[in-house]
Amino acid sequence: MHSNLIDGIWRNSQTALRNENPSDLDDVVGEYASGSPDDMREAVAAARAAFPAWSRTTPQQRSDILDTAGSEILARRQVLGTLLAREEGKTLPEAIGEVTRAGQIFKFFAGEALRMQGELMDSVRPGVEVLVSREAVGVVGLITPWNFPIAIPAWKTAPALAFGNTVVLKPAELVPGSAWALADILQRAGLPAGVFNLVMGSGHVLGPAMLDAGIDALSFTGSQRTGQSLAKACAVRGIKVQLEMGGKNPLVVADDADLEQAVECALNGAFYATGQRCTASSRLIVCNSIHDAFVTRLAERTAALRVGHALAVESQIGPVASEAQLANNLSHVAGGQAEGARLVYGGEHLKRTTRGYYQAPALFADCTPDMRLCREEIFGPVAAVLRAESYEHALALANDTPYGLAAGLCTRSLARATHFRRHAEAGMVMVNLPTAGVDYHVPFGGRKTSSHGPREQGRYAIEFYTTVKTAYLGS
Ligand code: NAD
Repeated sequence: MHSNLIDGIWRNSQTALRNENPSDLDDVVGEYASGSPDDMREAVAAARAAFPAWSRTTPQQRSDILDTAGSEILARRQVLGTLLAREEGKTLPEAIGEVTRAGQIFKFFAGEALRMQGELMDSVRPGVEVLVSREAVGVVGLITPWNFPIAIPAWKTAPALAFGNTVVLKPAELVPGSAWALADILQRAGLPAGVFNLVMGSGHVLGPAMLDAGIDALSFTGSQRTGQSLAKACAVRGIKVQLEMGGKNPLVVADDADLEQAVECALNGAFYATGQRCTASSRLIVCNSIHDAFVTRLAERTAALRVGHALAVESQIGPVASEAQLANNLSHVAGGQAEGARLVYGGEHLKRTTRGYYQAPALFADCTPDMRLCREEIFGPVAAVLRAESYEHALALANDTPYGLAAGLCTRSLARATHFRRHAEAGMVMVNLPTAGVDYHVPFGGRKTSSHGPREQGRYAIEFYTTVKTAYLGS
């Protein structure tokens, strides 16, 4: 069994999680400990005990450990990518790309550890100076989803450690393998006992135990339902909280768009990584004059996508990550048809030589904004095309959602690109690019109900993982 890491010691638990390969249900990736509330309490206590010394380490010490971890992740990207593809189901190139990104994130925050800085100002009072400095928040709980098994743990853990916090990571039940590998790498990179703890297992059991054990801050990525209930629980306990949740991201195709480029953006944004990205383009809002050509061409390209085993070289789309997610996708496909949308292509459960959760990407047209297809996050390879009368109508449709993570526009007009960048109600805007696929060195996050709290990643990550102190120094 792969154990939990608590206070620098690998500890088994009474029960285990069986990590299955969604491409081949006969392939068991491994057995992973499923922690108890006691395990979580001990992990938080270990992080609490380790905090004073870790928060007083020099930036150089923290930077060196993060750099070592980043180097190992990058050096082992093939092996770690294979593990990730096996447990989550994204294709091997996608998985290696994700691992590479995790390594780059550790390298980036190795640099950021050295750049923690404050401000010295004259007071409005004579003979007084004001020093504004940043300090680590304390013990940070991290709860992560299954769709980015190493990148999301990395983009929370690296800044938390860089700025002097100690960490308890609770990864998603479906994908403990990549988180376990990350813990192993961090442990060997030289972190003192208790600075980074891993407790795998059920969110319903370990989430409440984490909050009750007395963490100082919680960074969560996952569904809106879980995030909103955690936000309430954090508010009454005075826990600082950051939430990254779902999306229903629009890609607007203006009438002056380059057709092939727009189709490529839609195909990638809607279906790559099996549509299981919070930034996936699930609403394709297409202006009248280009609509029919776009739907015809996108249907051809979708039909040509090769769905198969995540490790097979010919696969372009891996399986859906779990049985429950596949059932959810199929029910949305059936629901879309019942609502009157036109299923242009796909949507069905596919058989392959191995037993897995394969699904043909589903493309719907003739959708209306009130349909569940256009309102609810599906989190699978299902895309809905909406017809717009004009660019202005398309923009209004794009913003007609409670979500606000990413929004894309395909156009050849600079004026429209500028207008869209200013008026799209989203945390991230992409022009002539897929809505999914972001850089690791710039802020990531959304608006409206997609996100809560400061941005993640890049230099902006410091806002969440530090707290500001204002000191008045008299003479
Ligand atoms: P989920 O909310 O079911 O689970 C996320 C994590 O929360 C898991 O680790 C789970 O064990 C834990 N959890 C479940 N119940 C809990 C509870 N009561 N208390 C504490 N923790 C609990 O989400 P998921 O299905 O793993 O992930 C899919 C969702 O994640 C989608 O909505 C997707 O949009 C979102 N997501 C968002 C981003 C982003 O950055 N905005 C990135 C990736 C995924």
